[in-house]
Amino acid sequence: MKIEGIASVAAMPRLVSLLADDTGEIQVSLQFATDEQRLRTATGSARGQVNVTCQRCLEPVAVEVEATVALAVVLNEEQAKNLPRYYDPLIVEAEDVELLSLIEDELILSLPLVAYHEDCSIQTSFGEAEEAARTQDTKPNPFSVLAELKNKADKS
Ligand SMILES: [Zn+2]
Repeated sequence: MKIEGIASVAAMPRLVSLLADDTGEIQVSLQFATDEQRLRTATGSARGQVNVTCQRCLEPVAVEVEATVALAVVLNEEQAKNLPRYYDPLIVEAEDVELLSLIEDELILSLPLVAYHEDCSIQTSFGEAEEAARTQDTKPNPFSVLAELKNKADKS
């Protein structure tokens, strides 16, 4: 069984929290099947365009997001642990809700860390932009924390 559909970006609050606005649609294409191990699977993709904030002019800029879906339906956490590695578990209790939420996770991972308009009206050199970000934004961001961890790991 194949399902094609459109999911509204506005229905993905965790994704929206990282975007400039909640406009946009995600085209979802999923194939439901039973594989040779008798696992019920959902495979396919979700892709669309969302608006993130341009890090130069702070206006919205459109970027592509894409999620690859390879899920196997399981009844509980125990079954989830025993799945082949190429599947993510889809625990069946909340199939509908969970499915969109898993797609949302993948879309979030596909977001660029920073985005700029290709022809942004505010032209700054990369160094200046970085300097500005450093002085304006003192909140730790998760990516810089990751970078620090990586640096530490490299040194040891
Ligand atoms: Zn811009």
